[in-house]
Amino acid sequence: MVELLVTMDLEVAEDHDLDDQAKILDRLRSDLASLGLPITLFTVANAARRFRHPLQGLHADGHEIGCHGLDHAAEENYRLLGAEAARQRLRRATDEIHASIGERPRVFRGPYMATSCATQSALIELEYEADCSVCPQRLDFALTRGGSAGWLTAPRVPYSPSERSPHRRGDRPLRVVPLSCLGAPFISGLLYLAGLPGVTAFYRTLLAEARRTGAPLVFLFHSYEFARFTGEQRDARPWLHRRYLRDPEERYQLNLELLQRMLLEPGLHPSTVSTWLRNHGGSQ
Ligand SMILES: [Zn+2]
Repeated sequence: MVELLVTMDLEVAEDHDLDDQAKILDRLRSDLASLGLPITLFTVANAARRFRHPLQGLHADGHEIGCHGLDHAAEENYRLLGAEAARQRLRRATDEIHASIGERPRVFRGPYMATSCATQSALIELEYEADCSVCPQRLDFALTRGGSAGWLTAPRVPYSPSERSPHRRGDRPLRVVPLSCLGAPFISGLLYLAGLPGVTAFYRTLLAEARRTGAPLVFLFHSYEFARFTGEQRDARPWLHRRYLRDPEERYQLNLELLQRMLLEPGLHPSTVSTWLRNHGGSQ
């Protein structure tokens, strides 16, 4: 059996309609309940404040709430932040998310998928159980703000990181649960470029590998993708983004279809990051 970890990053996207961003969370809550699909939401602390009520609803339904940083500003890049700055930001973010939902987050994903040894030290200090920021064999690492050449050689299954590198195995009391990648990351953006048939072929390749290795299948989307784009400089976005399917409703439907399809795959069962960790306590 392979576990499917559907993850969502919750941010305040200033260039997308803010009312849409709040409303989509309630719609998602109802659709996830219909699907019987638990997910892990990584929330930025400012998004936990702004979308507090819908987030509390999702939490009450049993979805896991993790931490996605304090404000997701450009400077909140955990690949580059010093140890003290990382510690302070993570402490504040953890406290603020705790105050919003009534429970301390135990799982983390860095803004821009960025992490570091110093970040992982702070996570351990703050009693986090998992860092979900690593993208093994994701080839566009140099084009992303948080990307690292360490992604090229990072393990493809969850691991305890080393004190010398967040991308190597070691014995730190933390687990790295990587995003599923195969050259490209398993994210919703791929749906808007390759369509459902392309992404189905992609995840089935990952699933065949996961059946051999015991890794979970980890998918990522952002809720703001389903809100109207209100920014002005659409053409200033990276060229790949300009080729995306743009209609938020179509995007939402495509993601729902993908989730429904994955839930019908034999031997693939949805779970949250913490539940996966509990079920797989030993190191791999
Ligand atoms: Zn993010």
